[in-house]
Amino acid sequence: MKGIKIKNWKKYTFEFLSIFIAVISAFALNNWNENRNNRNAETTPPINYLIKIEFNANNLDRPKLSIARTFIHEVIHAEIFRKLLSVAQHPSIQLNQNQIIQLRNNYPGFYDYYMKWKWAVPQGQSPSSAQHEAMAQHYRSTIVQALREYDST
Ligand SMILES: [Zn+2]
Repeated sequence: MKGIKIKNWKKYTFEFLSIFIAVISAFALNNWNENRNNRNAETTPPINYLIKIEFNANNLDRPKLSIARTFIHEVIHAEIFRKLLSVAQHPSIQLNQNQIIQLRNNYPGFYDYYMKWKWAVPQGQSPSSAQHEAMAQHYRSTIVQALREYDST
């Protein structure tokens, strides 16, 4: 077996584990406090490599497609955090000078979103976050496709 294949295998194993961890965490439906009650779910940035998705158990009485949409939304947050983490050279994302340089070199698209929507928000605009702006522009078809695969009706 060639070295490059082993390299890819490691990469995909890491990716699989990251997603697996995220999905497992989706079912940790606890400790949801009052001031988050208006949210459907939340994805916590990596702490010691762990990206956590939590669902608001008080807000699951809605159509399954709506819950699926929330789930996909949070998985995309997890995926963006995973990409940031892959170049962070640290178990958490701090967006310090070194991490910002790594982000620029490896994910110039995300770098642009963070520069624009975190530190230099255009006048008169108020973004929900750099990740939401990136999602709106680049993940719309992913969301639609995932929902279609979940429920084609
Ligand atoms: Zn979000």
